[in-house]
Amino acid sequence: MATSSTSNTSSKLEALAKILVQERDKGWLDTTVMGGLDKFLTRWADELNVTLGEPPSYTELSPDDRVKWAHVAMKKMGLAPAAGVAKSASRPAPSANPPAKKKPASPRRAKAAAKPTSVGLDDDIMALRSVTKRNEARLRNLNMQTVRDLVFHFPHRHNDFARLRKVADIVPGEDQTVSVTVWEASLTGHPKRKSTQAVLGDETGNFRAIWFNQPYMAKTLAAGSQVLISGRPEIYKGQIVFKSPEYEVLKDMEDLVHTGRLVPVYPSTVGLPQRTLRRVVKEAVDTCLGQVHEFMPKKVIADAGLMGLTKAITQMHYPDSQSELSPARRRLAFDELFMLQLAVISRRQSWQEAGRAIALEADTDGLKAFLGSLPYELTGAQDRVLGEILGDITKDWPMSRLLQGDVGSGKTVVATAALLAAVFNGKRGALMAPTEILAEQHLFTLTKLLSGSAVSDDIQNFVTVPANPLPRPVTIGLLLGSLRKKDKEQMHQRIADGEVDIVIGTQALIQDTVVIPNLALIVVDEQHRFGVIQRASLREKGVRPHVLAMSATPIPRSLALTLYGDLDVSAIDEMPPGRLKIRTKWVEPEKRTTAYGFIRKQVEEGRQAFIVCPLIEESEVVQARAATVEFQRLSTIVFPDLRLGLLHGRMRMAEKAEIMNSFKAGELDILVSTPVIEVGIDVPNATVMLVDGGDRFGLSQLHQFRGRVGRGEHQSYCLLLSDSPGADARERMKIVERVSDGFQLAEEDLRLRGPGDYLGTRQSGLPDMKVASIMDQDILSVARHEAIKLLESDPDLQLQENRALSEVFDVYYEGVSAEMS
Ligand code: ADP
Ligand code: MG
Repeated sequence: MATSSTSNTSSKLEALAKILVQERDKGWLDTTVMGGLDKFLTRWADELNVTLGEPPSYTELSPDDRVKWAHVAMKKMGLAPAAGVAKSASRPAPSANPPAKKKPASPRRAKAAAKPTSVGLDDDIMALRSVTKRNEARLRNLNMQTVRDLVFHFPHRHNDFARLRKVADIVPGEDQTVSVTVWEASLTGHPKRKSTQAVLGDETGNFRAIWFNQPYMAKTLAAGSQVLISGRPEIYKGQIVFKSPEYEVLKDMEDLVHTGRLVPVYPSTVGLPQRTLRRVVKEAVDTCLGQVHEFMPKKVIADAGLMGLTKAITQMHYPDSQSELSPARRRLAFDELFMLQLAVISRRQSWQEAGRAIALEADTDGLKAFLGSLPYELTGAQDRVLGEILGDITKDWPMSRLLQGDVGSGKTVVATAALLAAVFNGKRGALMAPTEILAEQHLFTLTKLLSGSAVSDDIQNFVTVPANPLPRPVTIGLLLGSLRKKDKEQMHQRIADGEVDIVIGTQALIQDTVVIPNLALIVVDEQHRFGVIQRASLREKGVRPHVLAMSATPIPRSLALTLYGDLDVSAIDEMPPGRLKIRTKWVEPEKRTTAYGFIRKQVEEGRQAFIVCPLIEESEVVQARAATVEFQRLSTIVFPDLRLGLLHGRMRMAEKAEIMNSFKAGELDILVSTPVIEVGIDVPNATVMLVDGGDRFGLSQLHQFRGRVGRGEHQSYCLLLSDSPGADARERMKIVERVSDGFQLAEEDLRLRGPGDYLGTRQSGLPDMKVASIMDQDILSVARHEAIKLLESDPDLQLQENRALSEVFDVYYEGVSAEMS
């Protein structure tokens, strides 16, 4: 184009100069530009030809002629050939980068200027001079409100400038950072969702990187600029490709290096460059670190061998070396785990001190009759776990027990037995489910279990199970938020009058003002937030109920201790005999139609199937829309002759129930559902679970989906579909194929996910950990040990030497209690 700007032209010339230097170093083999130098020459002909004239086809020249042409070209560009080129190429000509002049003052200069006076740790971030109106909003998006937040905003890793890799040394599938030149960056892909594709390289080779849906990247990556690329490359068609890697344009190397060899890389947000974040954090640390005081008691520091707090903060941001980084990280991780353990242990103490529970007699005739009436023997694991529970509830201090067991391991029978223990002591039991659908399901299951026979589907919300096999009739009531007002009032009345032996409901059960007289035991199904129950039941004065929480998401023992340090844990780690193992298969993308064909065959044999739609994002609105589209596609194109139903989170309760019931009744062949919805139904005739977009789910989620089938006499199957699985996803799906045991999967999950996700997840209801991760088992056990020791010697943290800690802990506990409940 005739209008191309001077600076654009010179940056292209600059890039060409670098390419030629590399060509020279590699012996003029035309290997520097992927696909040949001609690609570059043709693409930028408009910019280059003004200076160079019409170029030859470089590819067709002999190496000798390439040298000749290169020398002439370099001269025309005003560069000395050979060695001289290398030098000027690595230092951009002044005209090459005019925006450099507009750069904000470097941190070094900011420091030289008068320092802002008296910025406080708890001042708003605007108090810092490096926080401008422009970056304020983005910092707030990162949840940075005060200077303190910035001081404690730690890097998730460091770029080690001594350890940058050369392109030739890139290993696919590993996290790594390379420092490279941008050869070209262009837009590709769908016209409405343009992606940026770039060719990058150094003197040892080239590779491609692609940023999906990020057209602006093409501008950011000016040809000829230096960038750092970090990520985990894959091999695609025999070549290395980085998909949406982290990147950083090195406008000014000094900016980076001023922090040392190890440059912090911070968790950031869209539109907030690392450069800015580094500058802001640096200012926060420089001005306010002096105000951070050591709060950890001297004894704990000595016993646990901790680095001092301010030193740890400095070294965590700007480590002098890798070996300084590790004790700094250990100290900060210790603080987080120690605080959590203090919270969890003192919560347990106050829970147990707050009141007495009802001591129940375990050996009632009713319980014996129930166990005797079961059509099967309890498994060894069920028997053991029931023993542990009965052991607890015969004491008058409140049980806090977590019952773990894989889907289908038989938790419900055990929980029912525990509830009956309460009932046959003349007390009440309650069962809480996470959703209304599951609550209804529980009413059905319990009724069936207690009466020893099948019960019709249309149970009302109040059931009397007749005597025999039980010694007397047992009543069960269902209390749901969605009940009609009249029914709800009636149920409240019955509960108050003591007419309901077992109350089943959702969380509303206890969050409402319902008081269940003589409540001896609460069973909570799939409830991670134990604090809710404890706090809610604290409202009642005096007597505490025993609490049993059930979870089908097995967590490794080590983790259970961190998450539920205030609970006792029981595990049903054995499946009832005679189960057919679910066959799991990861289906290659091109076999999608085969998978659909398989479902069709199963339906022809009279079976039913679930299809879970891909997870797009955790927004119910978006999911619902996507699922609706997929449902239409499946029912018009793929299975036009079959009966399909759709289930998503935006549907009304009654609609959901209707769909579920008709699936259960066999009036639908295939149930299409969003992944966010809890498909908590027991349909023994369903034998196929197809998880579309299987690459988007973690191991435990995939396992949960799989647990929806295999509940009947028929062989069941779990099919995992994924259109473009990355290396991680492939590994996950292979593991699910191979491992069917939930506990073993949980261990694998922990190993795979490593630091990060496991703690501080929404579902655990625990406070976010910034530094500590579940892999820090060593630090955790030291932290737990120290916390126990400390609370034994000073239960209320009253001693002078624990004062500072006590203050910090009070603030923490307030925040945590809110989050954990
Ligand atoms: P969970 O709640 O752990 O997912 P359930 O309690 O719903 O599992 O049990 C799953 C199925 O296994 C039920 O159909 C139940 O009747 C059956 N079951 C439970 N315990 C045994 C056992 N010991 N022997 C045989 N079948 C059992
Ligand atoms: Mg169950």
